[in-house]
Amino acid sequence: MCHYIFVTGGVVSSLGKGIISASIGKLLQARGYRITIQKFDPYINIDPGTLNPYEHGECYVTVDGMETDLDLGHYERFTGIRTTRANSMTTGRIYKSVIDKERRGDYLGKTIQVVPHITDEIKQSITHLGDTGQYDFVITEIGGTIGDIESAPYLEAIRQLKWELGRNAVSVHLTYVPYLKAAGELKTKPTQHSVKEMLSYGIQPDLLVLRTECHLSDGLRQKVAGFCNVDLECVIQSEDLPSIYEVPVNMQRQGLDAAILRKMDIPVGETPSLGPWRHFLELRQSATEVVNIALVGKYDLQDAYKSINESLSHAATYHHRKVKITFVNSETIDASSVASKLSGFDGLVICPGFGQRGIEGKILAAQYARENDVPCFGICLGMQMIVIEFARNVLGYADANSREMDAETTHPVIDMMEEQKHIADMGGTMRLGAYDCKLKSGSRVQTVYGADMIAERHRHRYELNSKYTEEFETAGLCISGTNPQSGLAEIVEIPSHRFYVGTQFHPEYSSTVLRPHPLFMAFMDVIVGEK
Ligand code: GLN
Repeated sequence: MCHYIFVTGGVVSSLGKGIISASIGKLLQARGYRITIQKFDPYINIDPGTLNPYEHGECYVTVDGMETDLDLGHYERFTGIRTTRANSMTTGRIYKSVIDKERRGDYLGKTIQVVPHITDEIKQSITHLGDTGQYDFVITEIGGTIGDIESAPYLEAIRQLKWELGRNAVSVHLTYVPYLKAAGELKTKPTQHSVKEMLSYGIQPDLLVLRTECHLSDGLRQKVAGFCNVDLECVIQSEDLPSIYEVPVNMQRQGLDAAILRKMDIPVGETPSLGPWRHFLELRQSATEVVNIALVGKYDLQDAYKSINESLSHAATYHHRKVKITFVNSETIDASSVASKLSGFDGLVICPGFGQRGIEGKILAAQYARENDVPCFGICLGMQMIVIEFARNVLGYADANSREMDAETTHPVIDMMEEQKHIADMGGTMRLGAYDCKLKSGSRVQTVYGADMIAERHRHRYELNSKYTEEFETAGLCISGTNPQSGLAEIVEIPSHRFYVGTQFHPEYSSTVLRPHPLFMAFMDVIVGEK
């Protein structure tokens, strides 16, 4: 029998529901349970693939090619699970599925309504995961803040499921306890109101996680418990911590997982030691030396390159270093400023992206790294910039470019993939998800992965133009990874360089706390001088 945990948030957004959901997953997994975590986003886009990163941060991609919310990245990094399209839903997808069924005539002449048709579709997307028999727990995070108009169908679906599932379902509600400086007091009223709002939807939260910047006393927790009909042991506080990776340990210390199990009538058993996780935290806490990385990109927003930041941080931690990541806006880099902007960093990451804006700065950064032997890692668009730079400055094709940026270039060293040429729709039509990549024997990447064949996740429309392969290879840019079916170039590297690697795929999506990604590890190896 599968068990269901619903995670909602009230009062304000950005409480860290994703981190709490991932932590619950981690803690239950540590007790030997098979878990999965899914996210519902109450917006009408089918997926976040068409969203500007300023709207919603990074777009995360699952192995089966779904463009999803960045919280799925937290789920994977915390638990090591591999999510799929069933782990990410939006209101747009729910409605589309219902409307498609209506057009097919599946509803046999009925009037289609939010209740029961939309709510049934939501319920089905939740229980579908449980019905696979693969999980003991399905954790469902509802995006947005309760009280928003668009969350209402989700709450109704949860209400119904809680009723149907009895003790096999619990609701975990996150709220915020603000500290009012003028009054010198922590305030529980927003929490009380938020729980009232939940009750107005017919849902009694079983557990409350109070986000707070100050420590909450037992008295205050007692007060919340009393006002909100929640057991004292089910009122957990989530104080600001130096790192998100400390959250599971903090939740375990307060018994969040044990309280969930008790609510569900499941024997609690011994508390798992979380050994490898704690080891990771100890390494982080005791590291003093700093690695300085420049992130050369165009989206000046903390969440835009989330997975890259986390992957760098995982790799630095296992090298017993702290990582200091400095965003360098590629739009501000020109020939006269490149050296001053990029000197002093231990390594550069040239970021993924779309469109013309900021690409000349990325190309200059690639040139700077190549000519000064600075460890450099280009990801997706970053790899394409490495290729363009090489074509311009080594092969001597001054107008070399990507067809994405310059449709008229006489040297389109990056060109649109053949199968992309006839696609009109923008959403969900890129080359998405995991594809095989064969590694060239004797290449750096083959040593790094310790394998001949790998699979990594993609999200792009353009590719290295195979017409130039030979020229690149002859001049010293080695194409060290290719897709065995299509022959598309997946990795380029300059073997003589300390670390100069570009990947058409996104290795950052698959780095986890307990399994840091080999390419980021290799990048760090070079930087800290171990290899
Ligand atoms: N814009 C490039 C392409 O579509 C790179 C995409 C990316 O960096 N994710 O190929």
